[in-house]
Amino acid sequence: MRSLVYDDLFIGGRWQKPATPERISVISPHTEEPIGEVPHAAPADVDRAVQAARAAFDEGPWPRLSLDERMARIEQLAKLYAEHTDEMADLITAEMGSPRSFSKMGQATGAVAQMHLGLTTARNFPWVERRRGLFGDAHIRRAPVGVVGAIVPWNVPQFLIMPKLIPALLAGCTVVVKPAPETPIDAMWLAEMLAEVDLPEGVVSILPGGRETGEALVRHPGVDKISFTGSSATGRRIAAICGEQLKRVSLELGGKSAAIILDDADIDRTVEHLKTASLMNNGQACVAQTRILVSERRHDEVVGALAAMMSGLAVGDPADDATDIGPLVAQRQQQRVQGYIRSGVVEGARIVLGGSDAPLDRGWYVRPTLFTDATNEMTIAREEIFGPVLTVLTYRDEADAVRIANDSDYGLAGSVWTADTAHGLEIAAQIRAGTYGINMYTLDTTMPFGGFKQSGIGREFGAEGLAEYVELQTTISAQPLPGPEVAG
Ligand code: NAD
Repeated sequence: MRSLVYDDLFIGGRWQKPATPERISVISPHTEEPIGEVPHAAPADVDRAVQAARAAFDEGPWPRLSLDERMARIEQLAKLYAEHTDEMADLITAEMGSPRSFSKMGQATGAVAQMHLGLTTARNFPWVERRRGLFGDAHIRRAPVGVVGAIVPWNVPQFLIMPKLIPALLAGCTVVVKPAPETPIDAMWLAEMLAEVDLPEGVVSILPGGRETGEALVRHPGVDKISFTGSSATGRRIAAICGEQLKRVSLELGGKSAAIILDDADIDRTVEHLKTASLMNNGQACVAQTRILVSERRHDEVVGALAAMMSGLAVGDPADDATDIGPLVAQRQQQRVQGYIRSGVVEGARIVLGGSDAPLDRGWYVRPTLFTDATNEMTIAREEIFGPVLTVLTYRDEADAVRIANDSDYGLAGSVWTADTAHGLEIAAQIRAGTYGINMYTLDTTMPFGGFKQSGIGREFGAEGLAEYVELQTTISAQPLPGPEVAG
């Protein structure tokens, strides 16, 4: 096993002594024992990293290299990373408890795939365009937005760093990444790999820390753009600070997604898919389909099938390949989810399976829990629980199902389960959510992803994700401009 203890911070592409002796100890959610530690970046470290990023952007070679030269560095990183995906997956499982199978596919392999997809997107991106304007041809250039602060949560840490870091670097930006304090070690390992790639000084910094570190980055006047993934509460605060400074900001926030099961759905197949769509990563997924909407006619059948599926889930050591549900990331999170389960009972919902008592005497585990006889007004139907807890809600007719699905502050994702795909598309068009699935729900990282309503502002992945890291510059000229002919 590689070293899990880091003494220095990765500032401006070099390992440097931290400004303070403060450390972050990472505790295994399975054993409750420490597994490693890293320095806790202080605001003074943030300042050093931003100054290095600023100098690298304003005067350094990075934004002035050709796209091919920048792409070559990302290719180097992808190659290096691909040699270590299994080890990286095991490290993430040890840090935050996601089952090994999920860490491999969803996190480490997914991170490499994102690098390759980012390269393809950059190759086909309209960096420079000519359009016919009022006074002749105009030249439209997509320029890098500048110094980017990238703030991510712990739930899929490497998978969430990549859609910020890779497009920002390809666009010519310099980047300061702030990983969550629960998962700093995988980020430090990424820093080790970045140190082996030929990046100019100042281009990337990685600064583990908590709220204070993140806020120092958001407030820093040297940062041009904040790209944030995390809770809607934090997103609201970050957007307010960015608003005061007119700093660019994009936000990927929480969700409370509804799976609408229509009467013509194949229930066995639906429930088999919901096993991952609703419960992946121990239920700690922003896109989890946690409100299960069903008509009175098929209610008992759906509840029976869900209960059978959930009672068969293997709860235990996330490092075991057979595990379906590992521990939650922290004791705080375990207690929070248990609190939600108690609130469901107090507010009148019925537990079909599970409960608020811990299933194992060690580790931050929560029983997979299924509620029914619930209403969409209850706390368990309104708030993001972020654990293996599902709530079945009954609708009267299809219009009622659409109404309930949309009756949420969030609008991140959703799904419909039906034998009629064309009708599924009609349902999708009525739902206020950024991504939608028909008889499936999974992320397609080649397609724009993001939230309606309080689930965010902006998009990640694909050309739209890269567009978040550029500014448009229009140039017109008194004389004809050189360059390609304008189409049309
Ligand atoms: P969180 O908002 O508490 O923390 C996220 C990150 O922000 C962490 O790095 C944290 O240290 C930092 N942070 C906290 N307060 C800050 C502040 N005031 N200023 C700057 N940075 C600050 O989120 P969490 O509970 O750790 O993560 C889970 C949340 O993330 C869920 O709501 C989930 O839905 C959401 N999420 C969204 C997506 C998406 O793509 N939409 C993906 C994954 C997770």
